[in-house]
Amino acid sequence: MEKKRYVKPKTISREELEQALLQANEELSLANDKLKKQEAARVELFRNLSHDLRAPMTALVSTVGLLREKKNLAENEYLELLDLMGRRLKNLNAILDEIFLLGQMENPELRLEMENIDLATLLEEFYFSCEADVKYGERKLELDLPEELNCMVRVDPQKIVRVLDNLFTNALRYSKPGDSIMLGARREGDAARIWIRDTGVGITPEDLPHVFERSYRADRSRTPGDGGHGLGLAIAKSIMDRHGGRIWCESRQDEGSTFYLELPTLLET
Ligand code: ADP
Repeated sequence: MEKKRYVKPKTISREELEQALLQANEELSLANDKLKKQEAARVELFRNLSHDLRAPMTALVSTVGLLREKKNLAENEYLELLDLMGRRLKNLNAILDEIFLLGQMENPELRLEMENIDLATLLEEFYFSCEADVKYGERKLELDLPEELNCMVRVDPQKIVRVLDNLFTNALRYSKPGDSIMLGARREGDAARIWIRDTGVGITPEDLPHVFERSYRADRSRTPGDGGHGLGLAIAKSIMDRHGGRIWCESRQDEGSTFYLELPTLLET
């Protein structure tokens, strides 16, 4: 049997101990600050979402009241009110869908439905699915893919299409008729780089570092359209993180924005 050797414990000087305590104290204080910031962000998110949910809810309740009050409505008035209710319900549904998806993406237990996918096919299909919205919104749409992208990626296709969809919806939302939207991709070494570029309102340097934060919305008065709920980019970032990928944005105020995605590619067999 091997004999246990006596190891003399290392002596720590008073200065070393004080230094270690100071460092531990500093780390604790940093962790505490981070927790406080997260808590404040959670409260802010909760406040914004309840506000966003309350607006269509209140409007729905008043439309139902109107329907009850006005008994002798003409058929077209009746249908108009029903349409209005339908739109408000759709809005509510969209907010709930975003909250649900964000919760799903932040749950580490949730498994993605991964498949090996040819990136060019996925992007071409997405491009064709956008054509109607672009035509309706009077934007120009371009696809910039090399002849042979030759890029296989392992992704949950539904989730990646959701990211593209969020970026495309923003490109539409923050641009005006006559502006252009471009979808492109290239292979960059071991990674696939995808971008969605628009010639819309752009993002100010002050807002740019915050756009991926949950519930962040830049100045509403500067951005046209109804705007969303500030969750789309946070969802896109969570999805990219779960794929081991990246998302970032370059933008110039009044010139437009480019959102980039990077995904690891599969090695060719
Ligand atoms: P929202 O639902 O408000 O669009 P997002 O999380 O998708 O929320 O985006 C956050 C904010 O980033 C937006 O409110 C907007 O100010 C800004 N933003 C996002 N995409 C664009 C874009 N393509 N052009 C200009 N601003 C954008």
